[in-house]
Amino acid sequence: MSEAVAGLLSSLERVLLDAATIQRRVADMARRIADDFKGRELSVVTLMDGALFFVADLLRAIDLPVRLHTLTVSSYHGGTKSTGRVQLARALPFDLTTRHVLLIDDILDTGLTLATVRDRILAECAPETLRVAVLLSKRRPREREVPVDYVGFEIDDEFVVGYGMDYQGHYRNLPCIGILNPLHPPRP
Ligand code: 5GP
Ligand code: MG
Repeated sequence: MSEAVAGLLSSLERVLLDAATIQRRVADMARRIADDFKGRELSVVTLMDGALFFVADLLRAIDLPVRLHTLTVSSYHGGTKSTGRVQLARALPFDLTTRHVLLIDDILDTGLTLATVRDRILAECAPETLRVAVLLSKRRPREREVPVDYVGFEIDDEFVVGYGMDYQGHYRNLPCIGILNPLHPPRP
C-alpha cells in the first residue's frame, strides 16, 4: 500500500467495504448486467466524478459491446449533505434514441440526482431500454423515488468516501469505502 493511501486510511473512522468485497460484488453485477442485456450493445451514461472508479471496473467486467457517455452533476458542492439542487447542462450532449441505456451513479441518497437525469433522458431521447445501476444505496427516505435495477450494497445513512467518492476532492483513490472521521481534517 502506498504511503498516500495509508495516510488516507488512517484518517477514516472505519472501513465499511474492503477492496476485495467491492471487487467481488462489482464482478457479480457485471455478470447480471451482461445476462440482462445479452446480444445488445450497451450505452452507459455515468455521472462524474464519484462513479468513475466503479464504472471503470464494472465496464471492463461486462462481456458486451459498450459505449460510454459521461455527465457532470453535483448536488453536494463540497460538503457532506446534499444541497437538494442538481446542476445539469441545458441539453444532453449525446443522443440515446433506440439505444439500450444503463444509467450509473455511485450512490443513491435523496434520489434527486438520478431522478433528474433519468427524467432528462426520457424527455430528450427515446431509448429502447433504460435501466439504472448504483454501487451504494443509502437506507433513508427518498425525496424522489427512482427505479433502480442493480444495487451493489445497501448502507446506512452515513457519509462515505473512497473508491471514487470524495470529501472536498480527497479520498477518491482509496481502494476501499469508509466512513469519514468527523474530527479528522482532510489530508492534502
Ligand atoms: P442524491 O441526489 O441521491 O441525494 O445524491 C447522489 C449524489 O450525491 C451521488 O452522486 C454522490 O455523488 C453524492 N453523495 C451522496 N451520498 C454521498 C456520500 O456519502 N459520500 C459522497 N462522497 N458523496 C455522496
Ligand atoms: Mg455523484
